Amino acid sequence: MGCLGGGQLGRMMALEGYPLGLSFTFLDPAPDSSAGQVADRLVGPYTDPHLLAELGASSDLVTFEFESVPQEAAAQLASSTEVFPGPRALAVAQDRLLEKRIFTDLGIPTAEHAPVDGPEDFDAAWAKVGHPARLKSRRLGYDGHGQSRVSSRQDMARAFSAVGGVPSILEREVAFDRELSIISVRSKTGAVAFYPLTENHHEESVLRLSLAPAPELTARLEAAAQELSSALMEELDYCGVLAVELFQVGDRLVANEMAPRVHNSGHWTLDGAVVSQFQNHLRAGLGWPLGTTATRRPHAMVNILSSAPELEALLEVPLARVHLYGKRPRPLRKLGHVNLTGGAAAEVSAAVLATGALLTASLPAPRYAGSYWPE
Ligand code: AMP
Repeated sequence: MGCLGGGQLGRMMALEGYPLGLSFTFLDPAPDSSAGQVADRLVGPYTDPHLLAELGASSDLVTFEFESVPQEAAAQLASSTEVFPGPRALAVAQDRLLEKRIFTDLGIPTAEHAPVDGPEDFDAAWAKVGHPARLKSRRLGYDGHGQSRVSSRQDMARAFSAVGGVPSILEREVAFDRELSIISVRSKTGAVAFYPLTENHHEESVLRLSLAPAPELTARLEAAAQELSSALMEELDYCGVLAVELFQVGDRLVANEMAPRVHNSGHWTLDGAVVSQFQNHLRAGLGWPLGTTATRRPHAMVNILSSAPELEALLEVPLARVHLYGKRPRPLRKLGHVNLTGGAAAEVSAAVLATGALLTASLPAPRYAGSYWPE
């Protein structure tokens, strides 16, 4: 298996592929990449034709672990080997405007928005979208990078330069009750499976805490999320894991964005699901049977950002399974995560708080008398 990108997502993919006898080669510009520490690595730019040829020659199948991979790199690989997910999913996920268009075409609710290619579009976009709003660059945005809140029409010029003066969209802010995500998987045979909806808490636009299944999950919400994800996968003739980030407003779901890859809000599946998102992504690409995704027990995932606490202290937290990525500390960098799993809701919640007490950033307080899930 070859992979473009050698970050932590690739590393966890490899670790989940080894039990099935798979081997991995990662292409990444960083000589000390997270995945490169546990698998074969090719070091250099994603667009280097020689490295791409080498990756293609050493792999029967290639995937990617971030959606900003240059389309020409994926296309070069596709001329000699199979690449999944396919080029259309990649193109759509790389451009927020195309993403919004596919949501709209499929009848999937999404925030009011308008394209902003330059100052000539400020008036029309502001009039259409209303406020509060966010200006987001169409391409290369992640974890809040490439976006800026816009408080007034006069503020548009500042926001446009803050996102780099590149083609963007103005998007209405959604007054959501909470953020959710659905992680789905579709095999090249057409088989599909869904993990339970997950509730996600962000700070500074970076994921801090995921709770799965989402507290107070209704059959109706679950069905709505599965339906919209199925529609996307069908439309894109999708293969692999697809994550869709959602806002819940009342009993409605509004799609924020999609990621054509394994996703941070699915890391709990490493210890909380029978088969993780990482292994199911590989099984999907290989056309192998998909593994069980269901779980009835509560699971939580806490991200370790910026700097890691004492490992021994983390290991002492009851129910904690610690995953470190072998990355050097840097502000807001994802260095690892802790899964809290294997107990009742109150025990998992207490374990989340114990983990949180070791971290520099604070986590949201439990909503239900000391627990993140209602009785
Ligand atoms: P994104 O890069 O689009 O995933 O945005 C990162 C985070 O910013 C999201 O997880 C939300 O917390 C917040 N956000 C993004 N877009 C909106 C929106 N239209 N309305 C409200 N919050 C948003």
